[in-house]
Amino acid sequence: MATALWADIDRLLGEGPVEALDFEAIETAGRRAALEVMGQALAARLNADHSDVRAAQSCDRCGAPARYAGRRTKTVVTALGPLALARAWYQCDRCHTGFCPRDRALGLSGTSLSPAVLRMVGVTAARVSFAESSALLRELAGLAVEPKQVERQAEALGRAIAADERSTVEPDGAPADTLYLGLDGTGVPVRRAETRGRRGKQPDGSAKTREAKLAVVWASAGRDQDNNPLRDPESVSVNGAIETVACADTDTDLSPFAQRVLRETQRRGFDRAKQQVILGDGAPWIWNLADELFPDAIQIVDVFHAKGYLFEAARAIYGAGTDLAQQWGKQRRDELDRGRLDAVLAALAEHTSCPEAEACSSYITNNRERMNYPHFRALGLCITTGVVEGACKHVVATRFKRGGMRWTVNGANAVMALRCVILNNGFDDFWERRAGL
Ligand SMILES: [Zn+2]
Repeated sequence: MATALWADIDRLLGEGPVEALDFEAIETAGRRAALEVMGQALAARLNADHSDVRAAQSCDRCGAPARYAGRRTKTVVTALGPLALARAWYQCDRCHTGFCPRDRALGLSGTSLSPAVLRMVGVTAARVSFAESSALLRELAGLAVEPKQVERQAEALGRAIAADERSTVEPDGAPADTLYLGLDGTGVPVRRAETRGRRGKQPDGSAKTREAKLAVVWASAGRDQDNNPLRDPESVSVNGAIETVACADTDTDLSPFAQRVLRETQRRGFDRAKQQVILGDGAPWIWNLADELFPDAIQIVDVFHAKGYLFEAARAIYGAGTDLAQQWGKQRRDELDRGRLDAVLAALAEHTSCPEAEACSSYITNNRERMNYPHFRALGLCITTGVVEGACKHVVATRFKRGGMRWTVNGANAVMALRCVILNNGFDDFWERRAGL
């Protein structure tokens, strides 16, 4: 083989002037040939080894003695290309399942993708659609993995990541003195069956989306020109799922999303930080959860949401685009910035017949302590949820809300687990734990 191989390489490289070489053609053909040689060597090595035939083998599933039923060949897509691998097959007569001990040893159980290819599927499908992932694998690695297969394997991997996330909480080192926890929800477009019986924002009262809830933890570093604290980009972690904040029948258990928040905050040391700050918009579930999990934390309502309510009231009272609306809105905004909430409420009270003014008024009344902006500024705290909204866009919108996408809840949650672990730089740790199982 070796002589023929060198002859092939010589032919590929040619003997004429190097300027006349088709560099790309050589690279591409050369890589394919190199992979093929290694693939053949690997397949030959594996197929020559029959040590997986054992005198006694117990069943994978039920533990009963299983019977050897010959060698079976399966084609596995590997980083070296497709390889036909023959393995000892065992049959259990008690529970009627068949299995290959070697598949389990090599990480090939229940899949026709090798571990290295599965990893490529994971890192691409976390970032782009299944079809694009398939196209990238073909373009970059010369591998044929159909979009449907990418979907199945990425979701299976995501489910394993989600299970690992639930069971493994390894706290970071010493946390920053001040840590922020931002909570928010954002819609994921889902298939019709996933919204049956749920109220939504469609004109007929139906829903097209389910809400993914996100917990974002970060520390600040430095200040912008207005002296507002900036996020430390290295410190941001995101953990989310389409999950309920409602408790199960037993009130002793935390809701699934509350448990997720607890794990993420323990991982990040938020629970040990000297100063805990929780940021959100006005959604009641956010503050119920904050009270439940971290009663001592400082709660802050995003200042831009608060100002949005003021200007909405201004437009409703005086008409959109009018000078009067602009002037009134600015006055209320300045009062808000100076912490003069009574003045804002008094101004709103003059317009009780206006629903937007009423809404703004109850927003302020319900969130009063969370809107003490002069105090928060004096403490040097972040008062906006820009980091959280950025995370919603980055984690959810760019992957889950693209044209025509309709998810199942299970599928979306699996891919969200995959996407979060990759964006949080936790994929390598997961992969090590997975290999160690
Ligand atoms: Zn069995």
